[in-house]
Amino acid sequence: MNEYKLKDLICEIGRRVYAKGFAAANDGNISVRLNDKEVLCTPTMVSKGFIKPEDLCVVDYEGKQLRGTRKRSSEILLHLAVYKNNPQVNAVVHCHPPHATAFAVAGEPIPKCVLPEVEVFLGEVPIAIYETPGTQKFADTIIPFVKKCNTIILANHGTVTFGPDLEKAYWNSEIIDAYCRILILARQLGRVNYFTETQTKELLDLKKKLGYDDPRFAKTENCDLCGNNIIQRGYRDYDPQPEAFEREEMAACTVGASSSASRTPDIDVLVKTITEQVLAALR
Ligand SMILES: [Zn+2]
Repeated sequence: MNEYKLKDLICEIGRRVYAKGFAAANDGNISVRLNDKEVLCTPTMVSKGFIKPEDLCVVDYEGKQLRGTRKRSSEILLHLAVYKNNPQVNAVVHCHPPHATAFAVAGEPIPKCVLPEVEVFLGEVPIAIYETPGTQKFADTIIPFVKKCNTIILANHGTVTFGPDLEKAYWNSEIIDAYCRILILARQLGRVNYFTETQTKELLDLKKKLGYDDPRFAKTENCDLCGNNIIQRGYRDYDPQPEAFEREEMAACTVGASSSASRTPDIDVLVKTITEQVLAALR
């Protein structure tokens, strides 16, 4: 696709982002890799619903603006962190879809093993630690994850999704927000049913056949398919634990679930104490 067509496509995706309510006011930004020296991106302070091709900017891989009359987005460093660390990615969408951002605000990990499309198209979705937007420190928060996934939740901020082309990168934003919305609705109904290990294995086989990658293909432990967050594990200084979507049968699996392990001796002590008291009373 030439630069002219890519500019049109960015404007079209901007309209979809805005129409879906994924970006209030001038929130969000979109970019496309042009070549190994240049990235095309949206400007700052323009609503994504109303961008024109002439508004778009071209930057180098350090974020320096090369072309365009408007100033490039301040969040371009986030996009560049993806391009620099994953050569397979050609487009990045950052926005604030409300349902996914609710998980980002709650610090609630995105559960696995609930919807087939999410398992196949997204897989595991990590949460990156919070940093002030627009800074290099903020951009660096996603580096541990960009090679292993295509969708990242930014704590107290929003989402970043990416892919081999712009439409696929954007679809991931739609998929994660629809998923989070369904999860919240199902939770309000009172129950979330999860796939069994066998059902999940079947989905992962299908995923492999369709040509997608997933870190779980090389899983080493039983709990990795639906329990442990295996991407997040590489980034242990921030390891959010589930609260709203904790699976009881997975409690023993969770990394750092020393609470369930330490609960057992406490109960043993309690049972022993009560038994002794009962026996003493009977005597
Ligand atoms: Zn943002």
